[in-house]
Amino acid sequence: MRYSQLFIPTLREVPAEAEIESHKLMIRAGLIRKFASGIYNFLPLGYRVFRKIENIIREEMDRQGGQELHMSALIPAEVLRESGRWDVFGPEMFKLTDRSSREFCLGPTHEESFTVSVRNEVRSYKNLPQILYQIQTKFRDEIRPRFGVMRCREFIMKDAYSFDRDEAGLDVSYRKMHDAYCSIFDRCGLDYTVVQADSGAMGGSGSEEFMVKSNVGEAAIAYCDDCGYAANDEKAQCVEPSGPAVSKQAGMFEKVHTPGIGSIDDLCGFFDCGAEKFAKTLIYLADGKAVAAVIRGDRDLNETKLQNLLGCVVLEMADPESIRKSTGAEVGFAGPVGLGIRKIMDLEVRHMVNFITGANETDYHLKNVNPADCGNVEYADIRNIASGDGCPVCGSPVKMDRGIEVGHIFKLGTKYSDALGCTYLDENGKERPMVMGSYGIGVARTMAAIIEQNNDSGGIIWPVGVAPYQVIIIPVNTTNEEQVALSEELYSKLIDAGIDVLLDDRKERAGVKFNDADLIGIPVRITVGKRAAEGVVEYKMRRDAKSTDMESGAALDRIRTDLGL
Ligand code: ATP
Ligand code: MG
Repeated sequence: MRYSQLFIPTLREVPAEAEIESHKLMIRAGLIRKFASGIYNFLPLGYRVFRKIENIIREEMDRQGGQELHMSALIPAEVLRESGRWDVFGPEMFKLTDRSSREFCLGPTHEESFTVSVRNEVRSYKNLPQILYQIQTKFRDEIRPRFGVMRCREFIMKDAYSFDRDEAGLDVSYRKMHDAYCSIFDRCGLDYTVVQADSGAMGGSGSEEFMVKSNVGEAAIAYCDDCGYAANDEKAQCVEPSGPAVSKQAGMFEKVHTPGIGSIDDLCGFFDCGAEKFAKTLIYLADGKAVAAVIRGDRDLNETKLQNLLGCVVLEMADPESIRKSTGAEVGFAGPVGLGIRKIMDLEVRHMVNFITGANETDYHLKNVNPADCGNVEYADIRNIASGDGCPVCGSPVKMDRGIEVGHIFKLGTKYSDALGCTYLDENGKERPMVMGSYGIGVARTMAAIIEQNNDSGGIIWPVGVAPYQVIIIPVNTTNEEQVALSEELYSKLIDAGIDVLLDDRKERAGVKFNDADLIGIPVRITVGKRAAEGVVEYKMRRDAKSTDMESGAALDRIRTDLGL
């Protein structure tokens, strides 16, 4: 393509709303434009990269026996009511009604649509297994859309679903998807790790996430260098401190007047001690019912672990009114002693001695509290793992890292097939539920993750497999006949060779063209300048600092090598 005819609106200025490098560069390089909060349009250059990633995904899914189809984005409410998810999604789901007041949603994911389709068509074990997938638009009204296409409200996902006769079959399908994902992310040039992930309260026997290591990643990963364990923080298990819990006798605590001091920070100042001396009590509503979660003051509660333990559909922090009702005190003074609601206490608190808690009385705390004072409590792992905690497998201290979740594979088991009646007849004519898996990749998030890992101060450095164009030819002087002629010759040869090539025929200064070529990240740059008459060009890889002069024929050979053709 000829640059002069293309719609590539690059920007010199860094857009104000963009916080992270990939977001800035996607806007500056003219790949995307914001349309509304969490809603982006892809421009031609961006869409070329998008399609390359999509095609890599397609090829690897097909290689593993996946079959592509396309489901409607509009989903009738009944389908999600059947699985019980109509209410579970809450405000994240875009709901709408048609002219006859029938309810629909814009699909946030498609487990139900696939399950219903297979239920209606597949009856016999002879037609299993099946792996079906689509590359299609999802809608989620995210609370905090951010970082451009990393977390947006309309996005394209590759979602696949497998249907098997039994768990052993599911293991095979799951493994195939795992392998497909590794090939996909390898071909995208990403440095990623596969981590164990939470598989939810309701069924599901295993789940892994593909994490691209990045300090702007929203996911926290715990990993162990000694044994190779890696899990996201929703899943990573905290080990109970070793040794028996110290059993102090009950009733040694005293009430302390703490007027208006309810936050851990203020309390640390007041009591002149660290946050680890406190047991903080958080009041939650689990499907509307108040429960208390008690963790050490310097720890973070893990809502996923708590929700899995409680088995509730909706878990939310209690509002001030509910807190007053269940504790008898204003917000900030809750504590486990004498609290008359269900109490879940973190395993670590069982080992704490003489700690400080709220007194369930406004403006009062209790000090020298011990577990024996807390009455009926259930102990469980409900906190986030932290750096230095023991690895749940080998006990060595774990490290924490941040990652961008680009893909997720999930053994669903029979959760959806049971709920939606997706059964088959086995060899003996017996009806059995199909055993399912689901597998997602965010296409645009993958694109942003590639940029996060591949950029420098000049712009994007596309890995060759996903670059919008593989080669850019820059004639330094577009009024010089020899330079133009050699550029045109190379251009047509590359087109004939099936290489995606961009000819920068704009009447701009060479410096401007070089900057744009760097910004949009084309892997190979051929500059046709002063030595055009001798048939010599300058060859430079975007990744390298230096260029090399070579005969144009040699440059064509080098391109093949550098592009891995
Ligand atoms: P997250 O925890 O980041 O919200 P998720 O667990 O909701 O992700 P899944 O439902 O497993 O994500 O979706 C599969 C894939 O779709 C994710 O791995 C991610 O790549 C992509 N994805 C999910 N939500 C978004 C979003 N709001 N914007 C862009 N991509 C997304
Ligand atoms: Mg999400």
